[in-house]
Amino acid sequence: MPRLRFDSVKAAYAKKAVEVAEQGRPSEYFGEMVFNKTAMFKYLPQDVYRKMVDVMDNGAMLDASILDAVAQGMKAWAMDHGATHYTHWFSPLTGSTAEKHDAFIEHDGKGGVVEDFSGKLLAQQEPDASSFPNGGIRSTFEARGYSAWDPTSPAFVMNNTLCIPTVFISYTGEALDYKAPLLKAISAVDKAAADVCRYFDKSVRKCRCYLGWEQEYFLVDRDLYMARPDLVATGRTLMGHESPKNQQLDDHYFGSIPKRVAAFMRDLEIEAMKLGIPAKTCHNEVAPNQFELAPIYEECNLAIDHNMVLMSLMKDVARRHGFVVLLHEKPFKGVNGSGKHCNWSLGTDSGVPLYSPGKTDKDNLRFITFVVNTLAAIYRHNGLLKASVMSATNAHRLGANEAPPAIISSFLGTNISEVLDHMENTDNLVRILSKHELRLDIPAIPELMIDNTDRNRTSPFAFTGNRFEFRAVGAEANCSPAMIALNTAVAEQLVLFKQEVDALIAEGEIKEDAIVKVLRKYIRYSKPVRFDGNGYSEEWKQEAARRGLDCETSAPLVYDRYLDKESIDMFAKMGVMRENELVARNEIKWETYTKKIQIEARVLGDLAMNHVVPIATRYQSVLLDNVIKMETVLGDDEGRRLSEENIKKIKEIAERVSEINRLVAKLIDTRKQANRIESEREKAVAYHDRIAPMLEEIRRHLDKLELVVDDETWTLPKYRELLFNC
Ligand code: ADP
Ligand code: MG
Repeated sequence: MPRLRFDSVKAAYAKKAVEVAEQGRPSEYFGEMVFNKTAMFKYLPQDVYRKMVDVMDNGAMLDASILDAVAQGMKAWAMDHGATHYTHWFSPLTGSTAEKHDAFIEHDGKGGVVEDFSGKLLAQQEPDASSFPNGGIRSTFEARGYSAWDPTSPAFVMNNTLCIPTVFISYTGEALDYKAPLLKAISAVDKAAADVCRYFDKSVRKCRCYLGWEQEYFLVDRDLYMARPDLVATGRTLMGHESPKNQQLDDHYFGSIPKRVAAFMRDLEIEAMKLGIPAKTCHNEVAPNQFELAPIYEECNLAIDHNMVLMSLMKDVARRHGFVVLLHEKPFKGVNGSGKHCNWSLGTDSGVPLYSPGKTDKDNLRFITFVVNTLAAIYRHNGLLKASVMSATNAHRLGANEAPPAIISSFLGTNISEVLDHMENTDNLVRILSKHELRLDIPAIPELMIDNTDRNRTSPFAFTGNRFEFRAVGAEANCSPAMIALNTAVAEQLVLFKQEVDALIAEGEIKEDAIVKVLRKYIRYSKPVRFDGNGYSEEWKQEAARRGLDCETSAPLVYDRYLDKESIDMFAKMGVMRENELVARNEIKWETYTKKIQIEARVLGDLAMNHVVPIATRYQSVLLDNVIKMETVLGDDEGRRLSEENIKKIKEIAERVSEINRLVAKLIDTRKQANRIESEREKAVAYHDRIAPMLEEIRRHLDKLELVVDDETWTLPKYRELLFNC
């Protein structure tokens, strides 16, 4: 079968672009499918509405007596919005991909409207959860787990189903999902930050944690995608020779968006807005066919739910436009991968952003306090932070000389670096003018201190004006593990900081003096994590090792950082996770890592033996036939002399095919050995050390054969087709 030609397909979808109808203004449909305050106001009795608002806005305890009324109102609203089913919606530990998430959605089993939706059903359920990974928690501790409503993230209707955000925990209290520890981490950092804020403003009651993610993704034509077994099974191309043109010209970035893609984006934006996701920017990314969607930042828990919803929504909408969305961190070799930058900050309940400098000395001291404590947290737990974003798929980005390196460091920009240096090297920063007035000798920090020229794109944890941007998170990942690690580490550090400041105050030190003293200590302490240079350079790797930063690149070994004493103590002290939960989660991480590489190995073996080798052999026969005929017609010597190039090709094919046969057999054998290993950790290490490199070795031969075999015979879509058709 000749390879698909798809110009006609392209034309058809471009036509569809014109048909995507204007659906009114965003302000008219934003949040239409969300059971938000407006909907609650309409569907709930007044006193119930007021109590719900108190729960959502102020974290008040949920009053069990209102559950039935909320359930009734929610059901009525959902049915008015087309829902026939409801589901407790949660993020199990498998990760974040929409297909997986879809599979967990449960209906009532009867396929009809649920009539008996009660407060009990809203608040808690026992999903049939035996197939979710739990790292041994459920078998060891308690067989059952339950899902419990998270009222801080509003319910919504998607695909005719009322989705109720929930946490998923075992009956003995261990978290079986990402949300339960996330909520604990957020609450820990909120409290610790508020305590520190009160040094500067006594009226602060609460702090909030914000997240603005930027989702990168690739689009490929659905027909071409279906013709690539590797894309279908693993989300990335396991073979494929680089296209003669890819991103050398940088002409894709901010270039004009193709019509068919524009139609998809518009559609996606509208659907996202209906679900309350404040989608703001859509643009081309660096690589061909790569794009980005970023909403306006929101409170961390909601932002993460919205990202999960968006990832699944993208896939649905793409289907309507004849596309497939690739969220894999590295779908194409030699082409930029996809990340999910997590813009993170804290703010007070009265709306003061804690990572923005202010106008007064006191504001600036508060700003520096939060920056320095964040740096100290990042430094202390740099290995853990890397572990929080590491996966079999993201490993292709981390440390692979493109997106953030596999060393966590922080870029602050010259301005703040100078301020910290000044503080570190100057004594008597606090000058008391009178009983009520003091002066801080800290250089002024202009509000817009970091413009685009002062940005370091190679930094995995960069300060970008009013927030930190954690760039090492993978495109496919649930942001939760990263946000759990970051928020818990910052909470721990803020608590420590406050204890030390309080101790100095108790000894009679003036508050500001005490703060500055402890800050100077942490400026010195966190210095090794500050790095403004090129994060991709070889020198940095050596320098980072000298500074004692974690430089490990092997994913299974990076996961060990979760079980370091400092990590276990930190999670326990902050009330986020217990040691047995961390152990269980690591088991899942190792197991998932192994499975991913295992699937890739199987698929590559199949591609090699059932696609490439037969195709190459067929073409080789054509060449052989030609050589023999040449000899027959022109005589042996003349025929052979003129067939020199073809004979070379015949030999190359023969040699490569023989190498491929040998390597695939070896791959199968190595896998068998690895599969016999009992320990999940050791098995993952074996897959990393022995199997993953073999995939690259086999690929090299397959890619060379792609260049030798004639285009018409080659059935698999090539990079130039996958990457340049939208
Ligand atoms: P860039 O591509 O330049 O990094 P974008 O505009 O694409 O910036 O995305 C920046 C993201 O950061 C957006 O989601 C934005 O809402 C978010 N953001 C802006 N300010 C803050 C803040 N103080 N805290 C958290 N996120 C923020
Ligand atoms: Mg960014």
